[in-house]
Amino acid sequence: MGKDIESIELKVLVLEDSIRDMELISEMLSDAGYNLDLTHVEDEFGFTSALKKSDYDIILSDFKLPGFDAFGALEISRKICPEVPFICVSGSIGEETAIELLKLGAVDYVLKDRPERLPFAVKRALDEAKKKTAHLKSIQDLQESEHRFRQVAETAHEWIWEVDKNGLYTYVSSVVETLIGFSPEEMVGRNYFYDSFIPEKKEELKNAAFEIFSRKETFRNFENQNIHKNGNIVILSTSGSPILDKDGNLTGYRGVDEDITEQRRAEKALSESEKKFRKLFQNHAAVKLIIDPENGKIVEANLAAIEFYGWSLNELQKMNISQINTLPQEVLQKEIEKALKKKKVQFEFKHRKVDGSIVDVEVFSSSIKIGGKLFLHSIIHDISERKKAEEKIKLLNRAIESSSISVVITDRVGTIEYVNPFSENATGYSFNELIGKNPRILKSGNQPNEFYEDLWNTILSGKNWEGEFHNKRKNGQLYWEKAVISPIVNSEGVVTNFVAIKEDITERKRILKELVAAKEKAEESEKLKSAFLANMSHEIRTPMNGILGFAELLKEPDLSGEQQKYFISIIEKSGARMLNIINDIVDISKIEAGQMRVEKKETNINEQLEYIYNFFKPEVEAKAINFSLHCALPVGEAYLITDREKVYAILTNLVKNAIKYTDTGSIEMGYLLKTEPASDNTRAGYQLEFYVKDTGIGIEKDRQEAIFERFIQADITDIMARQGAGLGLSIAKAYVEMLGGNIRVESEMGKGSVFYFTIPFSNYNGKQSNIDIENRNNENGFQQNNLKAIIADDDKFSAKLLSIELSKFCNEIIFAETGAAAVEAFGKNPDTDLIFMDIQMPEMNGYEATRQIRQFNTDVFIIAVTAFALAGDREIALDNGCNEYISKPIIKDELKTMIQKYLHKRITKPSISKMENDLR
Ligand code: ADP
Repeated sequence: MGKDIESIELKVLVLEDSIRDMELISEMLSDAGYNLDLTHVEDEFGFTSALKKSDYDIILSDFKLPGFDAFGALEISRKICPEVPFICVSGSIGEETAIELLKLGAVDYVLKDRPERLPFAVKRALDEAKKKTAHLKSIQDLQESEHRFRQVAETAHEWIWEVDKNGLYTYVSSVVETLIGFSPEEMVGRNYFYDSFIPEKKEELKNAAFEIFSRKETFRNFENQNIHKNGNIVILSTSGSPILDKDGNLTGYRGVDEDITEQRRAEKALSESEKKFRKLFQNHAAVKLIIDPENGKIVEANLAAIEFYGWSLNELQKMNISQINTLPQEVLQKEIEKALKKKKVQFEFKHRKVDGSIVDVEVFSSSIKIGGKLFLHSIIHDISERKKAEEKIKLLNRAIESSSISVVITDRVGTIEYVNPFSENATGYSFNELIGKNPRILKSGNQPNEFYEDLWNTILSGKNWEGEFHNKRKNGQLYWEKAVISPIVNSEGVVTNFVAIKEDITERKRILKELVAAKEKAEESEKLKSAFLANMSHEIRTPMNGILGFAELLKEPDLSGEQQKYFISIIEKSGARMLNIINDIVDISKIEAGQMRVEKKETNINEQLEYIYNFFKPEVEAKAINFSLHCALPVGEAYLITDREKVYAILTNLVKNAIKYTDTGSIEMGYLLKTEPASDNTRAGYQLEFYVKDTGIGIEKDRQEAIFERFIQADITDIMARQGAGLGLSIAKAYVEMLGGNIRVESEMGKGSVFYFTIPFSNYNGKQSNIDIENRNNENGFQQNNLKAIIADDDKFSAKLLSIELSKFCNEIIFAETGAAAVEAFGKNPDTDLIFMDIQMPEMNGYEATRQIRQFNTDVFIIAVTAFALAGDREIALDNGCNEYISKPIIKDELKTMIQKYLHKRITKPSISKMENDLR
């Protein structure tokens, strides 16, 4: 025994007042092999404080102590440490007392007179205490586990229950109250699981449950509808397992209930909303298809789609979208992928209908998941009408963009919102320069404010405005635009914009103006022609009457020589006057026809002026008017290259007019040398300014320009007063201009007129010309009478007439009747000075004869003579080698001129050849 307890440590509390007994106990236990840790106390206080201070394996207590006893100690120790064994070690105590102690919790008692029992008692007490502690622990564990289970059951969301084999609840977790409204107390031992089932299903569900019970099966998600204490229906999903006794007999079921009311309600709501959406899809007014993107199959089509495409739902559901979409399948597939990946949602396609027609559609596609699979949901709009409208708009737009008419759109305050490209051309401003501006940037300022006010009033009242703008381009150039401005009114009747359509009419206006001017001119010249014809008629009739009348008178037998002479002189004058008129008409016709040529040669202007002066001197003096001549240059310097004939004609005309329109006073003629700035500003040129000044009737200011027009006379009413056809000045003007000068008049009514004209004097070098002018007197004085001439004419009368006049200058005249005869005559008389060559001759005409003569002689002066003065005759004559040209009847003056020209040629020949050389 000693061996068994040898190594055991023992912590002992001993309550003993006797030292001897105390030692005895210690000895006994030590002897028994206990390794003692002994605490000795002698009274209540010591005992209580020792217990409170530390734990003991065992308590040994004397029965009787002064003021304290084992009953008291037992009571205290049971309170402080009930699990520590308490043994009473005493002298003899009665059996009853001992039993009483054992009843109160002491584990044993040992009599002091039998101390050898103590170690056994201690051992037994310790063993029992150990057992008791183990038992207590298992109870504690069980309690903890139950507590844990309960806690789980009570806090779980699900209702946990147990029923007996009849279905009576033996346990319910408190969640039940939140699920069906009844407390566990109301349920356990009182309710069967089927009591709360809804009446209409109670039997069915109960049977089904007991069916499972009978098979002792575990079941899951048994759905049952229950009535909540408040009357609502609660749907529970029940799962359970059977409880079996050790023999495998069913004692009950244990399980959980889950509230699935909300879940079922949500499912119902979902299915209802699904139904609703299906209905929405089916009945939606828009055409809708659901397509399987994997194969393009049409899965669903709504009623609108059926109606739109014309196929039944059944047919559509067998079709592939590629049978509707006109795109090639592989292209279409790519588009479907774009829609699936949400890269694109809007498409424009062409769709085929059941009748084969193709329509433009706009498709909005999106992917949707149905049952976990992706589909394409497409909404299809028929946009064929819109397309057509768009095409129309495009067409209109193209028309406006390419139009050569300006189109401008402004907002209602006139700010430009759009201009077509032509507007840029028209205004010179670019699109960007015009946008946002007001069209007033084009204002030229030439139209009054009222003009624009009227425009605005018209268009703001909703009416169209039409009118013409005088506008200014960016570059400052002015132009005319014909415009129509229309207000654009919205559906509420409010003006929102204005559209201006404008056409450039500058050119049209210019042409119109020209046409009007031309028309006026035509009317004017028509009037003038009538006046001219009346005038002409008078002009021609008067001399004609003179000729015929006096020719008639000449027939009278008894006329004196004087009378005859007088009559003949009248006939001559009348003839000359008529010839004048005819010459003027021929000249003006040539000028008009552009056939008047300029023939420039060197001429001495002083000599010409002197000639004219001398010629008219008698006539002027006969009117008792002073006549004077002023030449600015000395005769030796007065050479210029010009058309002598024309200068002569101009001067003659002016002098004739001066004489005609001057009755008293003087006529002055002359020229001045003037420098004029050269057009290229490099070299100053010279010009001669000729003038003819008279103290005659003068010309009204407002007619001073018109008199240079054809057929114009300063005073039409004065036609009869002074003879004239109104051609002289217009011929003069034409000639002056041909020669490179200009003509003007300065005049005052009643005081007189000065006519000025200029002629370029480009060859003037300010030096004395080296021409030999010794013979000038001869020439001027017409004292020449020793010339030799040939008259070639088949008309003997003409030849005779000419020879009579010519005899004043010639001492020898040879006649030839054909061209050949003329050539021959000249061959025989190479010293001939002049040949008068009629053009119209038999055998060989005058031109041919001239050409032949020119082959061997270039000096002889050949004058072509024609019966009719025709345009171009002179040129032809000169081309054929003639020096001059004259038309029949040859009058004395002209003959004189011819002779003078010949003589001049003879004198100036060296200088001319020199000049010709220079020119070459
Ligand atoms: P006309 O043959 O009528 O003189 P012109 O063409 O020479 O034709 O002159 C036109 C008109 O100019 C004349 O009719 C005359 O009215 C006016 N006129 C011309 N020269 C003079 C002048 N020196 N003094 C006054 N009027 C003149």
